[in-house]
Amino acid sequence: MKYVYPFSEGSKEMKALLGGKGANLSEMTREGLPIPEGFVITTEACMNYLNKKMDLKNDLMNDVLEQISQLEQLTGKELNGQRNPLLLSVRSGAQYSMPGMMDTILNLGLNDVTVEALATETQDERFAYDCYRRFIQMYGNVVMGIDINRFEQYFEHMKETCEITEDHQLTATDLKQIVKVYQEIYQEVTQTIFPQDPLEQLTLAIEAVFNSWHNHRAYIYRNRHGIPHDLGTGVTVQLMVFGNKGETSGTGVLFTRHPSEGTDEIFGEYLVNAQGEDVVAGIRTPQPIEQMAAQWPDVYQELAQHVKHLERHYRDMQDVEFTVEEGKLYILQTRNGKRTARAAFQIAHDLVEENLLTPREALARLTPNMADELLHPVFVENSETQSKWLAKGLPASPGAATGRIVFNTVAAKEWTERGESVILVRQETSPEDVEGMLLSQGILTSRGGMTSHAAVVARGLGTCCIVGCQEVIVNETTKTMTTASAVFREGDEISIDGNTGNVYQGAVETESAEEMPVFETILGWADEIATMKVKANAETPKEMALALKFGAQGFGLVRTEHMFFSEDNLKWMRHMILAENVAERTEALKVLGKNQVHDFKQLLDSAQGAPFVIRLLDPPLHEFLPHTEQEIQQVAQQLGKAPDNLAQKLNDLKEVNPMLGHRGCRLAITYPEIYEMQLEAILTSLSETTQALRPAVLEVMIPLVGSHAELALIRQRLEAYQANWEAQHQERHTIRYGTMIEIPRACITADKLAESSDFFSFGTNDLTQMTYGFSRDDVYKFIGEYVEQRLLPHDPFQHVDTEGVGELMRMAVEKGRQTNPDLPIGICGEVGGDPQSIEFYQTLGLNYVSCSPYRVPSARLAVAQAAM
Ligand code: ADP
Ligand code: MG
Ligand code: MG
Repeated sequence: MKYVYPFSEGSKEMKALLGGKGANLSEMTREGLPIPEGFVITTEACMNYLNKKMDLKNDLMNDVLEQISQLEQLTGKELNGQRNPLLLSVRSGAQYSMPGMMDTILNLGLNDVTVEALATETQDERFAYDCYRRFIQMYGNVVMGIDINRFEQYFEHMKETCEITEDHQLTATDLKQIVKVYQEIYQEVTQTIFPQDPLEQLTLAIEAVFNSWHNHRAYIYRNRHGIPHDLGTGVTVQLMVFGNKGETSGTGVLFTRHPSEGTDEIFGEYLVNAQGEDVVAGIRTPQPIEQMAAQWPDVYQELAQHVKHLERHYRDMQDVEFTVEEGKLYILQTRNGKRTARAAFQIAHDLVEENLLTPREALARLTPNMADELLHPVFVENSETQSKWLAKGLPASPGAATGRIVFNTVAAKEWTERGESVILVRQETSPEDVEGMLLSQGILTSRGGMTSHAAVVARGLGTCCIVGCQEVIVNETTKTMTTASAVFREGDEISIDGNTGNVYQGAVETESAEEMPVFETILGWADEIATMKVKANAETPKEMALALKFGAQGFGLVRTEHMFFSEDNLKWMRHMILAENVAERTEALKVLGKNQVHDFKQLLDSAQGAPFVIRLLDPPLHEFLPHTEQEIQQVAQQLGKAPDNLAQKLNDLKEVNPMLGHRGCRLAITYPEIYEMQLEAILTSLSETTQALRPAVLEVMIPLVGSHAELALIRQRLEAYQANWEAQHQERHTIRYGTMIEIPRACITADKLAESSDFFSFGTNDLTQMTYGFSRDDVYKFIGEYVEQRLLPHDPFQHVDTEGVGELMRMAVEKGRQTNPDLPIGICGEVGGDPQSIEFYQTLGLNYVSCSPYRVPSARLAVAQAAM
């Protein structure tokens, strides 16, 4: 088996075998860039070694030695050479870049004799001993596991004794002393003498890099990033070049474009007279790369040329490491550079403009989450690490926020009036809290799941939100929030991250989202590729306008219940529910109908002719009634009813399982006049809206249908009502009647339902609840455990459960289209806008997804990627 590849035999396509670093060094060698010669030991060798299928000494070292003698011939230097010693760097590099996860050893080959030879050869004793002390430290740390602080403490002590601040001010004598002490430390910790045989050094170094694949931090990193554990790392062995050879030498790192803005400018840092990780170690403050243009103009020119070449060659922004040895430039590494979401969009856009990428390729490089990031404030990079972490909940709505704790709307008003930012902290939220939610920078609840009131409303508002954060105990009466470590009160500052679910003590610096001109251009490319449309769930003119601005192609879910919660409507709704005779009920419905016309007209205006799905009333009636003793008294007085009567009615309406109770279309079976009133309001508002603003398609959706008989009856009544209305008004309107698919039985009998349904829309919140039998309002209490113990791959209210819920959806699509091949089918549940789930909807053949306005941009990206 071939375990060793000289750079001249590798290429960038060989990342799996050579690791990213080795493959790219090979590629750059082929491209004629100035790369110090070297070779790569394969990832296969690593895995075989780790699995004890390969013996280092017998199966690998001969090939390695052969490569070493090639290097010796090439350079005229010799490993362990008494006159001109060959020095090597031993570097790790896996298929996927795992920055800082494994370690590098520089200046290998030095010992007490070769260091003198190097000093003589270069006539620079200081330099030789600087290399040697670095080597002992790196080797001691990486190969023998000696705590790096053992060395560094002494190093700092030495600088203090010499009264200097900069490493390079140490003299040769100082460095000799350091080397001596380092060897003593080495001996003290390992009980062995620092190895003097370069071959032994090399063998053990290779072994150490192999073993570093099983580092704890590497393991954690792979888990976090979903990188398999059986890939192994390559080992690159390469000639050393020296950035620590005085004032014409140095080392640096750069990005070919600005990594946070994405602008086309070289961005980086370098250090004169330094080696290896000095730049990133933060010991000395590096200089900005622009300064290099002035200091070493020729070298800078060459560097700029090479890195632009690399960028064109890799067709992506590069992160490049380089070293200058006595005025001669070497490139030591290139890889695709990490970047912020903002930079990712800018760069993707610009590379298309520069004809380096097609729009399709550019889109493939973006993730839907990046679109989210661009719309919401985020913590300034790493700033949260300076704050005390308090707890973790479910990341319900993205963004980051800092503010003072308030426990209710009243306090939210008080604090914001004083110009403070607030975070609303509650056990859970209800419609009463919406005003406070509107005023808050962020929302934190200790209860509730991904489809809880707080989560849904926050996503609609684009406000950052964490729900189900069980590690904090919220007491709304005493106004305290208790964590494992402390008690927090109103006015205390906390910070929350809606992308991760983490809660921090105190203020964390956030930066707000800025508009980005290229954003819409890129999403426009996405729209052209996508085959599913993205619509929005919206119920107010403001949300509708926002959704259209974000590029929604219509509205997949316009809920109507909020209309009944305005003060006046709520009163009439209660009249209607509590009516003791038909006359009373009719009167109440008349007022409600009139008010609904007003609301619908506003919505039609805001939708600007875009297609529109109105869902008829869904929640159980008791949600509209007062609950506490005091409220009952008040309402009874307001409505002129006896409190006892009201309490009695309330008792009648009370249900043990309201979510499985008298709601959705079941209301329309027992109170047909409710939907008729809504339909009348829809017809009237259409009639009073100018032709230009009438929606291209108006669809009316009937919720919670479980059987064809229900749907057929309701539809028949609505159509009869419409026909009657049209005859009376001498007008015709096209309304399509369809059903929400949200009960498992609806999926199973979808072929029947399709006989009476012009379209389907999956309501995945209820469908998931009923398929799993998980109450969506209580599931947060144990879902974390389930995921942790791997009983579930994820929260099914967060990402669709393809295996169960998804299978029912597939059945509904198939059966529905058996009856009507052209049946339009969409999804409007919370997972509808989940980028991770969208690929699955593509496989189902859905026509659109509908989600809250702020999720529209990421969904547009996701539907395009799903279609590619
Ligand atoms: P990492 O994966 O942590 O970036 P590298 O293998 O890139 O580790 O090594 C870290 C640093 O060591 C490089 O940025 C470079 O400055 C230095 N280095 C690596 N190889 C050489 C070499 N052949 N000559 C000089 N310096 C080197
Ligand atoms: Mg490193
Ligand atoms: Mg590197």
